[in-house]
Amino acid sequence: MSLPELPLLDSFGRLHNNLRISITDRCNIRCFYCMPAEGLRFLPRRQLLSYEEIARVVGVLARAGVDRVRLTGGEPLVRAEVDGLVRLLKAIPQIREVAMTTNAVRLAKHAETLRRAGLDRLNISLDALRPETFARITRRDVLPEVLAGIAAAQAAGFSRIRLNAVAIRGLTEEEVLPLAAFALERGLELRFIEYMPLDSDGEWTDQQVLSGQAIRDLVAAEYGPVEPVPGTDPSQPARDFTYAGGRGRLGLIQPVTQPFCATCNRLRLTAEGQLRNCLFSVEEWDLRQPLREGADDAALLAVVRDCVAAKRPGHLIGQQDFVRPLRTMHQIGG
Ligand code: SAM
Ligand code: SF4
Repeated sequence: MSLPELPLLDSFGRLHNNLRISITDRCNIRCFYCMPAEGLRFLPRRQLLSYEEIARVVGVLARAGVDRVRLTGGEPLVRAEVDGLVRLLKAIPQIREVAMTTNAVRLAKHAETLRRAGLDRLNISLDALRPETFARITRRDVLPEVLAGIAAAQAAGFSRIRLNAVAIRGLTEEEVLPLAAFALERGLELRFIEYMPLDSDGEWTDQQVLSGQAIRDLVAAEYGPVEPVPGTDPSQPARDFTYAGGRGRLGLIQPVTQPFCATCNRLRLTAEGQLRNCLFSVEEWDLRQPLREGADDAALLAVVRDCVAAKRPGHLIGQQDFVRPLRTMHQIGG
């Protein structure tokens, strides 16, 4: 067994222990804030990291302190046999948690298998409960499949399932209370995330951001005081609250109105093996080529350290110097 490596500390003192892994850029729906409606060119299969290559990268990062990973995409459940990848990652001794973010369209079919493979947590994206709004956002008519996926995940024994909803002004205000009631009834955590400029059409404006504060006000008007949860992990992006007299759990991720860059602990691996130190990074560090050329762990870790060392203090959304990344959300991994 090799000795542990020095942790992944950047020049602002942030420790990196969390890796988001995109396993595909493909998706079975077309949320407008993430993907174009058509004209997509997906990565050819040979350009994607194999599951063994992903596990190798995670093994190297784990020796330097990464202990939590999340599978995402694109839609992770459109790639075959994801449970096999979950098993490979769970077998890495330092990895304490393997989670997944999914749109749940295919979850009813896979929930049991994923649970048996050892997947620890699920975040399920659901922005709207009204079929028209759901279809306007996703450009697909698959709300019943998503609801069935949520039920299947609960039946398979996943606990602390989180619903993630993108908060878009002029579109999803009327979804906030129905989602709060839906989550409360089923014992799900509900998280809203402010709409970020990662849409493929480049049409984002700050006017379209429904702020965390506005959501908090809406929930408080219906359910009474929305109280902060004390002792929340400061490196997690969400600020957590309770509602409905403590029975409901509400998280607010506010990258636009309350950036959390100062405590960021994340790295991101794209489906084709590029390492990013920020969602809004305009630079990437290639791990696929050294991996395929037989690089040893030390060489791979050197690339990772370069990436961490280059991390900037934060994104500049809403400011004049903000540069949109070339990739849109489905190509990065949310
Ligand atoms: N397909 C999976 C899903 O939708 O859950 C995983 C990938 S998706 C890119 C991950 C998360 O990013 C989803 O919760 C999605 O709502 C969120 N997301 C995508 N584009 C976004 C944007 N422009 N602003 C805020 N959140 C966004
Ligand atoms: Fe697909 Fe997820 Fe992007 Fe929606 S947010 S288009 S489900 S990858």
